[in-house]
Amino acid sequence: MTTDYRPMWQNLGLDLKAHDDLLKNLGKAYQQIILNQKKRPQKMEYLDFVMREVHGLRIKELIDAKAAGRKVIGAFCVFVPEEIVLAADAIMVGLCTGADFALEDVEKLLPRNTCALIKSAFGFKLSRVCPFLEAADMVVGENTCDGKKKAFEQMLELVPNFYVMDLPQQKTAGGRRLLRLEYQNFLRAIFELTGVEITVERLRRGIEISNNKRKALARLSHLRRAEPAPISGLDALLINQVAFYDDPLRFTDSINQLCDELEELIHRKEGVFPAKAPRILLSGCPMAVPNWKIPWLIEQAGAVVVGEEACVGERGWRNFTKTCGETVDDLLDNLVERYFNIDCAIFTPNPEREEHIIEMAKDLKADGIIHYSLQFCQPYSIEALPLERRLQERGCNFLRVETDYSMEDIGQLQTRIEAFVEIISQI
Ligand code: SF4
Ligand code: SF4
Repeated sequence: MTTDYRPMWQNLGLDLKAHDDLLKNLGKAYQQIILNQKKRPQKMEYLDFVMREVHGLRIKELIDAKAAGRKVIGAFCVFVPEEIVLAADAIMVGLCTGADFALEDVEKLLPRNTCALIKSAFGFKLSRVCPFLEAADMVVGENTCDGKKKAFEQMLELVPNFYVMDLPQQKTAGGRRLLRLEYQNFLRAIFELTGVEITVERLRRGIEISNNKRKALARLSHLRRAEPAPISGLDALLINQVAFYDDPLRFTDSINQLCDELEELIHRKEGVFPAKAPRILLSGCPMAVPNWKIPWLIEQAGAVVVGEEACVGERGWRNFTKTCGETVDDLLDNLVERYFNIDCAIFTPNPEREEHIIEMAKDLKADGIIHYSLQFCQPYSIEALPLERRLQERGCNFLRVETDYSMEDIGQLQTRIEAFVEIISQI
């Protein structure tokens, strides 16, 4: 018997009609893109279950946790330290920004030429279709790119519990001090919200839980070096997306079980794509649910995505936080050290990113790199041009694409991606 979640959604204030439309479209896309893949590891069943229940059972878990006195924190960016949230026995969830919704209403608040990710965050809020957003006791918006920074001024008016976190733009001593200060302020805000005093033991435990989740994702990434590829890029992306919603302990355990299965497949030299399939590293803007367009096109063209140099991917979980230290201040320093390494394109200059792309391409034996940026995303679109030149000079096969969440450009993208796959498969 299926559970009727409608009363729960109604209590959260969702627009049930719009929400039905969202679930219908999401279900259709999931069937067409994810479930229709020919070969999938058996343990992906868990991820399918999470996605089926993403607005159902998972939301019920959040509501039950809230009833028991725990708080829910929504976040848009990988700079928000989950460790601090976990230390206060609160729950952090990533907020969906991967689909267009209520565009007409959004464009009354934001210019048309705003990136799809920012517009999506507004669309979900304005149309009241995201139960995570409505269940959150605090929503954190980070001052990263100019688009987010200015759009969040309006989000402050829409979301009463909106918390703005300032972030540095330069990897200087001053930038590091700013991040330290912001994390200190965030820790205080979380204490005020939850009433839980963050002790050194609590923060260390939060760090360990986050590190273990990142280790499971690192293990998965390591296994994707195998030829033939033991898992599709679409499934690996889905795992990275689910990492933002699911309970971290349960998620870590499930991904480790999946990795056990992949190790067996690798041992038997079995894969989900032929051994000769061209291997692609995808690099650029984050891809939130249900933004599967580019990896889908790549894998439809017969290549396999072996890594994501993106925040929903390796940029988001790379580097662990040290657990050493005697005081909360020591552990905050460790957090700053970890997060300050994130090479998001909002930093200027941002030379580490080029090196990371090269490192990942070599490690994952990628035959080509596809750089993906969202239209009107200045940080990634501008950074893509010198990256293209420099990586080509260093011998990489590189394709640069720019798109949004609509399907209008699908034919043109398909032609370009198929041509690129064709070229690299002949090299
Ligand atoms: S791309 Fe930059 S702004 Fe976006 S989630 Fe990643 S770190 Fe945050
Ligand atoms: S995709 Fe680009 S423009 Fe959009 S929020 Fe991220 S950094 Fe800003």
